[in-house]
Amino acid sequence: MCYKLQYIDGLKPKDKWYFSFGTTMHNCVERFFKVSTPPPPTMEELLQYYEQNWLSAGYESAEEEAGYRDYGRDILTRFWEIHSPDFCMPVALERNFYIDIDGIKLRGIIDRVDKLESGGLSIVDYKTNKELFTAAYLEEDLQLTIYQLAAEQTWQLPVERLTLYHLRSNTACSCSPRDEARLEQARRLVVEVADNIVQEKFPAVENQYCPCDFPEHCPYYRHQYIIATPQPARQELLPGIAAVDAVERYASLQAQIKELQMQLDEAKQTIIEFCQAEELNRVFGSEHEITYKLIERLGFNEDDVKALLEPQGLWEKVLSLDQSRLKQLLADEEIAGDIRDRLESLRHIMSAYPQLYLKKRAEEEE
Ligand code: SF4
Repeated sequence: MCYKLQYIDGLKPKDKWYFSFGTTMHNCVERFFKVSTPPPPTMEELLQYYEQNWLSAGYESAEEEAGYRDYGRDILTRFWEIHSPDFCMPVALERNFYIDIDGIKLRGIIDRVDKLESGGLSIVDYKTNKELFTAAYLEEDLQLTIYQLAAEQTWQLPVERLTLYHLRSNTACSCSPRDEARLEQARRLVVEVADNIVQEKFPAVENQYCPCDFPEHCPYYRHQYIIATPQPARQELLPGIAAVDAVERYASLQAQIKELQMQLDEAKQTIIEFCQAEELNRVFGSEHEITYKLIERLGFNEDDVKALLEPQGLWEKVLSLDQSRLKQLLADEEIAGDIRDRLESLRHIMSAYPQLYLKKRAEEEE
């Protein structure tokens, strides 16, 4: 749904500092590799580019922005120190791709593609995420899977390494390429998503980033905005307002049911304990009476039954303890009477629970 609101309905998302920070860092890494021949730019050139192309949108305060600006400078300095000694020209940088998946045209941008000594390709995507990527995250990352599909279709070479480069720690987190089954799974997902777009199916799917920038249009959050509408404008929203009361009534009734259930259990326990202590089967109130019964569940113990039936060659007729088959066996006239009697004698109480039966007391006769 968020996709529809932003890309079809054209709603504009709010500026966010982490998008500005991520874009600034991406642009600088691109600048580092974007030379026609080695060497790469000097550290001073790179940092100057950084200062000139810093994006300010979305920061909450000047202090916050200054803090991230210093942080970005440190990251970039370390990046230059690590990568300038063994600088290699990439095969592609910030490369637009257009691929065809079962008739679906897919467009995207790959940050960097290198050629390995083996002749295969290595794909690198730069990230400014806070946490380092786990092996499980790398394995599941759909973006890398799509990049592999795109690179193999574009360069007709096998992808041999997939990397998410964690800029904050300057760590390359790499994994092996996806196998054919995973690629096929991704292709199917692309076709399925494209199909939903064509059919204008845009269900709201709650996720870890909710609420997005458009909660007033989302079925999970819209009601919050209806009830926050100032009083005079509320008239046509009455059904929404009535739902507010229904929600609270529902919650209050649930709480009452819980409380009543506790009181009911307490009263039941008092009656059961009284009946058991006084050996009574019925107790009387002023208008009602309650009959107490101990309900017993009879059954067989599997080991006992097996010990009896196995030597008689009858265990196969039951195999594992099946109460209905045992019943059949007990009723089977072809089985010797004494065996059936002994089997019957094995029946014992498996469990017992007290039950109360309430009824209105009969009117006293005149
Ligand atoms: S709030 Fe969450 S579920 Fe609702 S539209 Fe935004 S992303 Fe989707």
